[in-house]
Amino acid sequence: MTVTIKAQGNIAVITIDNPPVNALSAHVRAGLVKAFEQIGADNNIDGAVLTGAGRIFIGGADIKEFGKPPQQPFLPDVIAVLENCRVPIVAAINGAALGGGLEVALGCQFRVAGPAAKCGLPEVHLGLIPGAGGTQRLPRLIGAVKAGEMITSGKPLSADKALAAGVVDAVFADKLLENATGFLQNKLAAGDMGVGLSTVTTLPNWDAGQFAKLEAKTKARARGQLSPVKALEAVRAAQELPFTDGLKREREIFMECMNSPQRAGLIHAFFAQRQVAKVPGLDMSKTRPINTVSILGAGTMGVGISLAFLAGGYSVGLFDINREAQEAGLNRIVKTLQSNLSKGRITAKNMEAQIGRLSAVFDMQDLSNSDLIIEAATENLAVKKTIFRDLDRIAKPGAILATNTSYLDINILARETNRPGDVIGMHFFSPANIMKLLEVVRTDTVSDEVLATVMGLGKTIGKINVLSGVCDGFIGNRILKAYRKQADYMVEDGAEPQDIDRAMKDFGMAMGPFAVSDLAGTDIGYFNRRREDEARPKAERYSHIADLLYEQGRLGQKSGAGYYRYEDGSRTPIIDPITTKIIAAERKRLGIIPRTFTDDEIRERILYAMINEGAKILDEGIAARALDIDMVYVHGYGFPAYQGGPMFTADTIGAKGVFEKIQEFSKDDPYFWQAATLLKKLAETDGSFKGL
Ligand code: NAD
Repeated sequence: MTVTIKAQGNIAVITIDNPPVNALSAHVRAGLVKAFEQIGADNNIDGAVLTGAGRIFIGGADIKEFGKPPQQPFLPDVIAVLENCRVPIVAAINGAALGGGLEVALGCQFRVAGPAAKCGLPEVHLGLIPGAGGTQRLPRLIGAVKAGEMITSGKPLSADKALAAGVVDAVFADKLLENATGFLQNKLAAGDMGVGLSTVTTLPNWDAGQFAKLEAKTKARARGQLSPVKALEAVRAAQELPFTDGLKREREIFMECMNSPQRAGLIHAFFAQRQVAKVPGLDMSKTRPINTVSILGAGTMGVGISLAFLAGGYSVGLFDINREAQEAGLNRIVKTLQSNLSKGRITAKNMEAQIGRLSAVFDMQDLSNSDLIIEAATENLAVKKTIFRDLDRIAKPGAILATNTSYLDINILARETNRPGDVIGMHFFSPANIMKLLEVVRTDTVSDEVLATVMGLGKTIGKINVLSGVCDGFIGNRILKAYRKQADYMVEDGAEPQDIDRAMKDFGMAMGPFAVSDLAGTDIGYFNRRREDEARPKAERYSHIADLLYEQGRLGQKSGAGYYRYEDGSRTPIIDPITTKIIAAERKRLGIIPRTFTDDEIRERILYAMINEGAKILDEGIAARALDIDMVYVHGYGFPAYQGGPMFTADTIGAKGVFEKIQEFSKDDPYFWQAATLLKKLAETDGSFKGL
């Protein structure tokens, strides 16, 4: 039995026990209806407490039912039965009450919470809106603006915040069931039967101006994602329509979202994120214990990586060959933690604990205690080779030696040591304490045990690990390099950087490629290109514009100007006539008559360059699955999750369509547009990347 009733005097306690998350599976929904009917029919019962077994109230819908035809009883009907039960019901929210879980609680007359409660409606993250009355009942409880904020952010509220927002009536530090029962007895004694939210006719605190502001803000933030905007349409209906009509409107919008391609993209991203950590054929049970982590190099990345491990509960030693750089790095770590404290992200106790676990390593020899050493020194093969030879000498047996290199051949670094099985790539993204992606780079020699340890470790510091093979730039930067070249060619041919950035932002990318370049620093690309000069094939087109900008000291945000210019202390790109002039002069020098590019052509060229490179990466076995590439792009490169990722986009368009367009593009630049063998094969067989 997944739903049980236990009478305690005149109060019935209904418990949902459907591990692991008390999801609202069909049998739970049926069990709930039965329970409410049974209680309604029992005249000895005056009220009921509804709770979840274990540590969760109700985790939400059952993901096993996703994509299947809905099964009766439907959740809105279950909640109607609950709300219309003869006796008042209090939801005793012991843990997460998410999605349908919170909607069930909103069907109750009262809600009380334990300290671990989390109340949220995360449907927008899956491209949906709450579909069981959440958009109608929540505004009736806490007002349209607060409800709209909760629904559009998808973020759950802690118990205290839920109390402050008015989502719950009381929070109890312990003995939730006893206290919930007492709460209900008091209400009954006072003759307070609570409120069925469907009966509320006027929304509390309706403020048309505030709501319009929220609508505008949500649209701007959504970057083309429809579900948050649609969710507010439903919330607005709560104000404008009677409950039953509002519920109908919610259903219509819910179905519209359900059938949208964005939902398909988000569902793909959701499941891909769960799958990505599972490496086919890798035994995850054999790992090495990691307690002490050392970071070598206290620059931008060393600082971010240290912060990520400190937050994950590890002891971190920070070493840099340069004392000043080390001190600056340590200071930045402490400053970031202080700022996290002032923003309420961590408690003072937590901050002190993190600072307490941080230490400066002054002598490289002292890295010998570390279980894991991550090299984040300057991107230079000779420097890194020396470091790995030294680490081989210093590190204790069994220590894992990782590098954060962005492009360099980690197989070479592994060969510098006498323990190539212990060398691995851990490619973090900047800022490493914030960005979710971690590319774990598998060298030819790394042991399964080391690989499994690092894959597991990434998870404990809250990262989304994607496994990549060794190649120049691994999965992410290799694809970036390909589409960046295409963007550069378009600029040389007549598009302005801002046109390209705008077209890609309209597609939903967090930033366009040129704004990204300014953020990272144009020097990074410059030195990378110098590294490649010697091996660059003659047939490859080379645009000098990026070099010209760098050579004129336009390093991007850090120098106040790159592709764009920046006001002091601001990160907002401003179109710069100087850049326009540099580009125009270069076109003139090359005898190029600039042509126009529509936004659609820009998007096609960039996306197809990504997809083609992705297909090559799959062909070569650098990525095991298309979903690995998608996750790299969604979590590391600002690719909109609602588009699913570049390879998912390819499947949406169809391999044939992509291949044919690439053939067309290749007429002007056959070198760049060499179609991947895999793409050609899929086009010919009407296959998909997902189906591989
Ligand atoms: P950075 O220049 O900010 O810092 C590098 C630090 O390494 C400097 O403080 C320098 O003093 C130190 N260093 C140099 N040689 C050393 C040695 N032998 N021993 C110890 N310390 C030494 O560089 P960064 O941006 O932090 O990049 C570090 C690494 O991370 C590079 O390999 C880079 O490619 C990679 N990476 C950078 C980014 C990024 O966005 N910045 C993203 C991912 C990966």
